[in-house]
Amino acid sequence: MTETIAAISTGLSNSGISIIRVSGPETFQVMDRIFRGKKSGKKLSEQKTHTIHYGWITDGDEIVDEVLVSVMRAPHTYTAEDVAEINCHGGSLVTKKVLKTVLKQGVRLAEAGEFTKRAFLNGRIDLSKAEAVMEVIRAKSDLALKNSMAQLQGNVLKEISALREKMIHHTAFIEAALDDPEHISLEGFTNELKTSIIEIRERLYRLISSAENGRMLREGIRTVILGKPNVGKSSLLNVFAGEERAIVTDIAGTTRDTIEESVTVRGIALALIDTAGIRSTEDVVEKIGVEKAKKAAEEADLILYLADATNEVTEEEKEILSLLVNKKFIVLLNKIDLCEEPDTSVLEQLTGQPVLCISAKKEEGLDALYDTIEKMFFQKELSYNEELYITGERQKQSLQDAYDAMGKVLDSIEAGMPEDFFSIDLMQGYESLGEITGESVDEDLVNTIFREFCMGK
Ligand code: GDP
Repeated sequence: MTETIAAISTGLSNSGISIIRVSGPETFQVMDRIFRGKKSGKKLSEQKTHTIHYGWITDGDEIVDEVLVSVMRAPHTYTAEDVAEINCHGGSLVTKKVLKTVLKQGVRLAEAGEFTKRAFLNGRIDLSKAEAVMEVIRAKSDLALKNSMAQLQGNVLKEISALREKMIHHTAFIEAALDDPEHISLEGFTNELKTSIIEIRERLYRLISSAENGRMLREGIRTVILGKPNVGKSSLLNVFAGEERAIVTDIAGTTRDTIEESVTVRGIALALIDTAGIRSTEDVVEKIGVEKAKKAAEEADLILYLADATNEVTEEEKEILSLLVNKKFIVLLNKIDLCEEPDTSVLEQLTGQPVLCISAKKEEGLDALYDTIEKMFFQKELSYNEELYITGERQKQSLQDAYDAMGKVLDSIEAGMPEDFFSIDLMQGYESLGEITGESVDEDLVNTIFREFCMGK
């Protein structure tokens, strides 16, 4: 029998409320034992589905917390099982105490991702949706979030299902014709099939490319451009981005907030973050930018440190550069177009590494910068975040397999093979795409994927 499981579904911070989700066949029996309602004498197990009830969680005589409990009955719930969600007070102590009370009733602590796994196993969502849920939880930027949301709404599923349907349709037609040659003719079919397979392949190719882009959105190397105000950070960002996204002005410290932009350099994805320069200041607005810059520098995979060739290196800058020890960084001397003989010696001495001379305005010296980034990447000094790599990679591989299978169908057509040869590769394509929607995956793979989820989801 399916076990009843529970977990804290919200983060364990000092939030106003926390939610503990309970799911499984015993949900309401368990809740009846630990919930005392304020108003009606009715037990939760007798309440209507999709209703919410005020009362207390009790452990014997002890009142653990004042709560609101949502009653949601199978099958219209997140997991497609009976679900209760206990809205209790936030703060890790109280939340954990409520969870402990639930677990004391023989409920098992849910594994990471287990609620979503159940939703999938109970047929409520397909695998691409389940993976999208995970992406939503993890989405680092609005753009990635938007992308995941679209996937959650089943865009991937729709497209892939359509392609699968075509493959199965062709196979069925071939099989039927071979079974019943008197009534179903394969006359002219090969040409028709060829046109269709070429189209399917093109659509698969587009999906593969988009899987590539999706990966970049989520995982670009987090790159921060650092430097004093007015050294040309926004200008450099604009060069990378190829459009006027950041606002460039002459007033010191205008880049008040951070901007994130996904760009590729020689095929390597960078998530560029423009920040206010790090400096001591009393200006409140500016300070927020400074704090953010410090934080961003901590989280960055790569720092592009920008100095102004028309100015001396200041004490402030020395301080900033000292923040970069143990970081991957590239030092850039900007505005060399305004300078006869840019002096890199001070910066080189301070950082112990070569300084690249550029002009963001004239777009000079950028090749050397791109070369350096490329070199760092291929020497594995910089890398994508491994953790986020897997799901997109898995989908991409399945797409690639399907694409290859369609290539084989085309080969067989070219070689004038008999029709029943086509169906083997068509079915291979069908199976490969099924791996994305979860219609043909083995259990190990399912488990691997769901282990990636956060607790309580
Ligand atoms: P930020 O405040 O550090 O982001 O710097 P901005 O990108 O806003 O640039 C400050 C000013 O320097 C602007 O007027 C830019 O046009 C100018 N600037 C930036 N890069 C260069 C460069 O390479 N050469 C010259 N001549 N001016 C530059």
